[in-house]
Amino acid sequence: MVASAPAQQILVHCSNGAAAARAPALFVASDFCRRPGFGRHHPLSIPRVSAVLELCASLGWVDDRCMRTSRVATAEELARYHDPDYIEALRASDAAGCVDPAVRERHGFGNFENPLFPGVFERAATAVGGSILAAELALEGRVAFHPAGGTHHGRRDRASGFCYFNDPVFAIGRLLEGGISRVLYVDLDAHHGDGVQEAFLDEPRVRVVSIHERGRWPHSGAADDVGRGYACNLPVPAGFNDSELEHLLESVVLPFAAEFAPQAVVVTCGTDALAGDPLSGLALSNVALWDAVERVICDAGPAVVLGGGGYNPWTLARCWTGLWGRLRGLELPDELPVAAQRILRSLECDLVEDDDVDEAWFRTLADAPRSGAVREEVKSLARRGRALHGMA
Ligand SMILES: [Zn+2]
Repeated sequence: MVASAPAQQILVHCSNGAAAARAPALFVASDFCRRPGFGRHHPLSIPRVSAVLELCASLGWVDDRCMRTSRVATAEELARYHDPDYIEALRASDAAGCVDPAVRERHGFGNFENPLFPGVFERAATAVGGSILAAELALEGRVAFHPAGGTHHGRRDRASGFCYFNDPVFAIGRLLEGGISRVLYVDLDAHHGDGVQEAFLDEPRVRVVSIHERGRWPHSGAADDVGRGYACNLPVPAGFNDSELEHLLESVVLPFAAEFAPQAVVVTCGTDALAGDPLSGLALSNVALWDAVERVICDAGPAVVLGGGGYNPWTLARCWTGLWGRLRGLELPDELPVAAQRILRSLECDLVEDDDVDEAWFRTLADAPRSGAVREEVKSLARRGRALHGMA
């Protein structure tokens, strides 16, 4: 829980139960956040950060003092991780409006999954620029919220899983460049953070933790996959609930983090792990995700909180709006004001059946808790994770 405190500080409750004071978070966004991308019929064509910004505005939760504008990462910056041929191929294809079949084959874009659409290059480069800026704010000791980031599947030389570049890699890289010697990356998206794990496979200054749905694309991140010793993977069963997330946090994630003692944390908080997402089978409440983010970032101080996946526009807009409220130390309303409800009621999504749309998605910000039994499979995953990482 977060409470307001005077003198531009908010109180946050850390994983050990203690309270700490820190400056309220900053929101990193760009004009791209307000414009749709991906063309029609793509799961990412729904309003996402634009709806979050509208909801936040309707609640009086954003103003010039808390907003920071992403810039476009340059080709030189992108080349610190991505293959220059890939960067140039995406730029040139975007400019030409078409993709050569050989380029499509080699670099994985220009297909349904990672379509070419006008402005794709600048949009992807702006997500990277936003994550670099978020890391720079974290280097000043702040918590930076960049919900347009979280493209955790992007590979060095190819697009993958709706991701062209990999902005979390740049957030982590900028923190390392800034002199941080231990960065913890926690990925709460429903899909394995494969691109980030791969990028830091040989980097002892980075630990990567991913909680994701077992049996889902990209089918990596098995429980015994520790990379080269720096990764912790927790593949969870469908129906994963709040109590089970709490169990994994308490028994694996927080002790793993405490052992590493990070100086900064980067979190990818996709909303596809929430109940009601059409592309995953997990069943968390948004409150469980907010608590998880707050607990993993609290002990480190500087933090970058990114978005990620999420294909239900109602659960996404409520989750990231509420997350911003929590990171900013604001009081969350039990019932949303009419203007906010109107924004939520105006959203549409082809992937969610009308019968599955919950009236509470229009009226409230916080979900009811989705607690339940901690299944044996989750307990055994926790025991295995502890054993693999030397926690008896
Ligand atoms: Zn995802």
